[in-house]
Amino acid sequence: MKEINYDVVVIGAGNGGLIAALKMAKSGKKTLLVERHILPGGFATSFSRGRFEFEASLHELCDMGHADKHGNLYTLFEELGVLNKIGFVDVPEAFRVITLDDHLDYTMPFGIDNFVNKMEEYVLGSRKSMETFFALGKEISAALKYLNVSQGKPETKVLMSDYPNFMRVAAYPVNKVLDAIKMPKKAQQILNTYWSYLGAPEDKLSFIHYAVMVYLYINLKAQIPTKRSNEISVVLAEEIKSCGGDIWYGREVKEIKVDNNRVCGVVLDNDVLIKTNYVISNASPHSVYGHMIDSKNIPAEALQLANSRKLSGRGFSMFLGLNKSKEELGLTDYSYFIYNSLDTTKEFARMNDLNNYSQVTVCLNNALPNCSPKGTTIMYFTSLYFGDCFDKAVTETNYFDLKDQLAEGFIKTFEKATNTSIRPYIEEIEVATPLTYAHYTDSPDGTIYGYLTADLDNMMPRLMRMYDEAYLNGLQFCGGHAMRSSGYNSSYLSGDVAAKLTLKAMKEAK
Ligand SMILES: Cc1cc2nc3c(=O)[nH]c(=O)nc-3n(C[C@H](O)[C@H](O)[C@H](O)COP(=O)(O)OP(=O)(O)OC[C@H]3O[C@@H](n4cnc5c(N)ncnc54)[C@H](O)[C@@H]3O)c2cc1C
Repeated sequence: MKEINYDVVVIGAGNGGLIAALKMAKSGKKTLLVERHILPGGFATSFSRGRFEFEASLHELCDMGHADKHGNLYTLFEELGVLNKIGFVDVPEAFRVITLDDHLDYTMPFGIDNFVNKMEEYVLGSRKSMETFFALGKEISAALKYLNVSQGKPETKVLMSDYPNFMRVAAYPVNKVLDAIKMPKKAQQILNTYWSYLGAPEDKLSFIHYAVMVYLYINLKAQIPTKRSNEISVVLAEEIKSCGGDIWYGREVKEIKVDNNRVCGVVLDNDVLIKTNYVISNASPHSVYGHMIDSKNIPAEALQLANSRKLSGRGFSMFLGLNKSKEELGLTDYSYFIYNSLDTTKEFARMNDLNNYSQVTVCLNNALPNCSPKGTTIMYFTSLYFGDCFDKAVTETNYFDLKDQLAEGFIKTFEKATNTSIRPYIEEIEVATPLTYAHYTDSPDGTIYGYLTADLDNMMPRLMRMYDEAYLNGLQFCGGHAMRSSGYNSSYLSGDVAAKLTLKAMKEAK
């Protein structure tokens, strides 16, 4: 068996793996990034059909912002020297939410004052509670920064004195806190529109998780790269190489070698052994413990944690290239959240049903007018399935028919909700199912949001344990299945955390 030495091997070039590898390479470590696909990015990529280049996943970036007012992602990209190599534009409005059962239709703007004012127009008497909500969001954002700086070892005294409301709300789900601040029910329902971005309903989702996400979106606005998320992935990959790191595409890590509870190497699918004492995995714990490490070498606690976690929603997406302009089609908005109702608990339950066509749909031209040839439009639709409704419906012979049937349902639902006609103008169509996501990224069961962040496995315990020692010496995880949960900003930031922990362990080992 051929043997090669590296200081660190990063498994997978998704968002988390790219950042981790870049940080390690920039720190002067001999870094190898191994990616089973032939491209960097994982979900963060694009693909072409006919004359259209489709974004594969990104609707909008959270925690980014601009030079004058920015979030953690902006700071990270700046620190890593990639910020100015990527073009970004703002998404025009926060969201439009439409319900199918009772025909509600609300459009909300970015900017806290604008958002609060608009909500007051829709729900008289909501102003005070909305202001309280955003004040809480601001305090939570600051408290999370403190938790980050204190590397998971915050002083209780500081938390109590500087972030008292954070401490007060940290243990509760969204609905409990919104009730406690006396937000009118209708305002709660509109505010909770973004719930499907985290994939858990208001009675299971941690308030701090939801509040900080909404606060960051509304305060900093949301951005997208001008050339799809592929632009970010390619820039990060180029930067890794220019810092001396190696990237091997089309190669899969088959095994992580362990000796005496310490990582000692990885074996690739071509039987090459890479000797290393440090591995950062962008592949999920399910994959790593499921088929990369000999079961006798997996620490019992690590296995218990992975097994006790629930997988998040499994992805379904549809991509349309239309041969009419957005004006001709009457598509006035960027983000359409189309639900049966605004009851998040019921909507979550309905995601167990294949005939549920609730969706978050983007008209890309409303943020990037020239993203497709003149007189054409790009749209993409995303939905989630919980449970095994997709597996039950799919057989060895009906996969393509099933995709057609589901696509038809999502299109009809969109047309009905928005009173538009898109079907006659479809020039290109592509459909991605949980099988597509599992195939391209090896995500367990085709989940697109990592492990479900709900109930007791929520943001708070994950954050408190973020800087804990690894169960297996030399192994760290990053990405949507790691400590910060899923989403672009979280997966990028998790790569930074995993690299910092690895650098610390390397220093201590000297
Ligand atoms: C349709 C859709 C819409 C979304 N919209 C948004 C949005 O608007 N905003 C947002 O913030 N988030 C969004 N997300 C979520 C976001 O895309 C993910 O949370 C994020 O991209 C996950 O990144 P990751 O670091 O976990 O890497 P992944 O994308 O999971 O990549 C993991 C990589 O590891 C590689 N790999 C796995 N195993 C091995 C192995 N053994 N050897 C070598 N390589 C391996 C895979 O090939 C893959 O490239 C969306 C996702 C989807 C699918």
